[in-house]
Amino acid sequence: KSKNLQGYAPICLGLEDFYTRRLYLRIQDCFNRPIASAPDSWIDVVERYSKDNNKTLHRTSKTSKCLNLGSYNYLGFAAADEFCTPRVIESLKKYSPSTCSARVDGGTTKLHAELEELVAQFVRKPAAILFGMGYATNSAIIPSLIGKGGLIVSDSLNHNSIVNGSRGSGATVQVFQHNSAAHLEEVLREQIAEGQPRTHRPWKKIIVIVEGIYSMEGELCKLPDIIDVCKKYKAYTYLDEAHSIGAIGRSGRGVCELLGVDTADVDIMMGTFTKSFGSCGGYIAASKEIIRHLKNTCPAHFYATSMSPPSVQQVISAIKVVIGEDGSDRGARKLAQIRENSNFFRSELHRMGFEVLGDDDSPVMPIMLYNPAKIPAFSRECLRHNLAVVTVAFPATPLLLARARICLSASHTREDMIKALDVLSTVGDLVGIKYFPIETQ
Ligand code: PMP
Repeated sequence: KSKNLQGYAPICLGLEDFYTRRLYLRIQDCFNRPIASAPDSWIDVVERYSKDNNKTLHRTSKTSKCLNLGSYNYLGFAAADEFCTPRVIESLKKYSPSTCSARVDGGTTKLHAELEELVAQFVRKPAAILFGMGYATNSAIIPSLIGKGGLIVSDSLNHNSIVNGSRGSGATVQVFQHNSAAHLEEVLREQIAEGQPRTHRPWKKIIVIVEGIYSMEGELCKLPDIIDVCKKYKAYTYLDEAHSIGAIGRSGRGVCELLGVDTADVDIMMGTFTKSFGSCGGYIAASKEIIRHLKNTCPAHFYATSMSPPSVQQVISAIKVVIGEDGSDRGARKLAQIRENSNFFRSELHRMGFEVLGDDDSPVMPIMLYNPAKIPAFSRECLRHNLAVVTVAFPATPLLLARARICLSASHTREDMIKALDVLSTVGDLVGIKYFPIETQ
């Protein structure tokens, strides 16, 4: 048998090489497409491959204007803004693009101090600390909050930055079923007896980590139930609001505001400036003691260059618009618009028969493709119709749960959305991903 196989080996290798190369090109074609504009509702996408009549991909470099359904530009601040942009340009002239220093050295400008106060006030916590990157905020902060002898109980669909931070902390990590307060309670009950005082438990500290809106699911955290369990078992709560801060809640204050949770019940509130505020960086907001502890112990505070001043200024200006301190009602209108756009788009996708994940009000809406082999056709056909979409697959999702992740923006007009829905309907029929064809019933 092995002799026979050996005989076929050269042919097998040849075929494998052929298929891997073709597949490699097709996959390459869906990701890393360079963008030649701001991440606004329309973007210039550089196509690196084109298809000939034999459906073979060739290298090219053609720029197409596409309707953008991929960026996390929830409030539309990623494009030039009448209030933010002039101030950002001023800060660039005054402070330069970089502080060239860590926070504790020369890296704290007046802008950094102002933003820390503004963030704390905006998310309704006593104090806040900034970091140059959202990802590093989780991965660097978690090890400064908990270590060996501690227990992290983490939602099974938490972001990779949380997974990385948890692993790096040296604490024991237990995972609970996604968004299930009942399973969280089961996990905690196994670890400790209910009501035991913090000082008499096998764990030095327990932190439960959840997200406000789950980035691959578009789903809201069942925060009130999670908090009830945390209180019962005296565990700290850590909430990542990367996708929810600025995007949901009557005044943009995220999942706590939307679900009526008192922020005093969330011990550590983490968020990023890369989505609703159109900038860079991340923050932790918590009690004065926790923030003081982080400022005294977190290596990323000492050894990493601080947030770029123009990025800080962008966030200050964007928050001022959101809270109406720019003297207009643009912030309130943007918030109403993102809610209206998200709910309209989601209900239209459902009506057309797509399987869409996530909750009402969430601007993140994954359309299920399931089979990852559908990604290249879906992505290329959308691009052919001037629609830029993000597709996600393993390892960002389980192997057979590939999806296209739509992110809506307050800057999408009704015409933009109708065009996008039209294209998605055509491509959905072509690729075979309308699982509930309600219209035709
Ligand atoms: N947390 C969550 C839930 C995220 O989705 C992301 C990235 N999208 C991050 C943290 C990392 O943030 P950033 O992209 O700003 O580094």
